[in-house]
Amino acid sequence: MSAHAAIHKAAEYFNIKLILIGTDRHGRLSLSELKQKMNRNVILVYASAPGYPHGIIDPVEDIAKCVSSWGCCLHVDACLGGFLLPFINDSQVHGTKKIKYGFEIPAVTSMSVDTHKYGCAHKGSSVVLYRSRSIRKFQYTAVTSWTGGMYISPSQPGSRSGGLVAQTWAALNYFGHDGYAKMARSIVEASLLLRKRILNIPQLELIGEDVTMIVAWKSKDKGIDIYVINDLLTDMGWHLSVLHSPPALHFCITSANVDSIDLLIDDLLKAMKCAKSGKHNSKNSRAPIYGMANKMSNTSIVDDLLKDVQDSIDQS
Ligand SMILES: *Cc1c(COP(=O)(O)O)cnc(C)c1O
Repeated sequence: MSAHAAIHKAAEYFNIKLILIGTDRHGRLSLSELKQKMNRNVILVYASAPGYPHGIIDPVEDIAKCVSSWGCCLHVDACLGGFLLPFINDSQVHGTKKIKYGFEIPAVTSMSVDTHKYGCAHKGSSVVLYRSRSIRKFQYTAVTSWTGGMYISPSQPGSRSGGLVAQTWAALNYFGHDGYAKMARSIVEASLLLRKRILNIPQLELIGEDVTMIVAWKSKDKGIDIYVINDLLTDMGWHLSVLHSPPALHFCITSANVDSIDLLIDDLLKAMKCAKSGKHNSKNSRAPIYGMANKMSNTSIVDDLLKDVQDSIDQS
């Protein structure tokens, strides 16, 4: 349920039946539900390290134990975590713990790591890593019966930009191990600070226990609509992510905003006071729309609405 929406897109493209697994009380993939739903038609189990909504890391070691008897693939989505978790493991920042989530676990067959996120390269440069060449081969398309000659394409896109490859290579070399380690350390420190500050606000509740770049929280106070808080923060120039079921917000920490935690808390407290007073008048009043989308049972209406909005963006 917390896996990135990209898995829905992949399933739609390839006509693969998606079996969604709920989360346990820690927000991690539920092992008991996974055990119940495993069957011999399952081709792959997908875990996140961490997931986008709440920055929660699925228990990959335990998932591996559960899937290994079925002989299917295990993918770890480390799109967000790939350039952070290895360095958190080495950072020895107080309050963080070592996490196993990748190829050190034998059942993991593939991973995705976004060079275009914390690798600081351009969008479009992301990578998939495979356990072995024999698995990677399934990604290739070879055509020998074409009048255009022998054709081999290694990836889903056909022609790709060499400039992107060069820029990604340059970013990796520019930051290097030490650059990424330094960045990870400052992000972890900011994350610990933000978590501490949110914990101290009695009307709010932190979601998840893992210390990652994502810090998510919800409202415990019926008089404070978290979506109104978002509108008011947007007015003040912040950009937070709006989450559903439960209604919540997350702040994504990057090296561009590590020094803004106390500013954010000041503005968050102002927004809460304003929301509680009931006298707010936001320029960005989207709270009713988010609130409604949360309650809609027939989501195909919302799907259509999203597609219409996309159409109108494309035209303008
Ligand atoms: C960003 C992200 C993706 C998808 O990446 P896109 O390049 O935006 O499609 C997948 N999983 C996670 C956890 C992500 O954060």
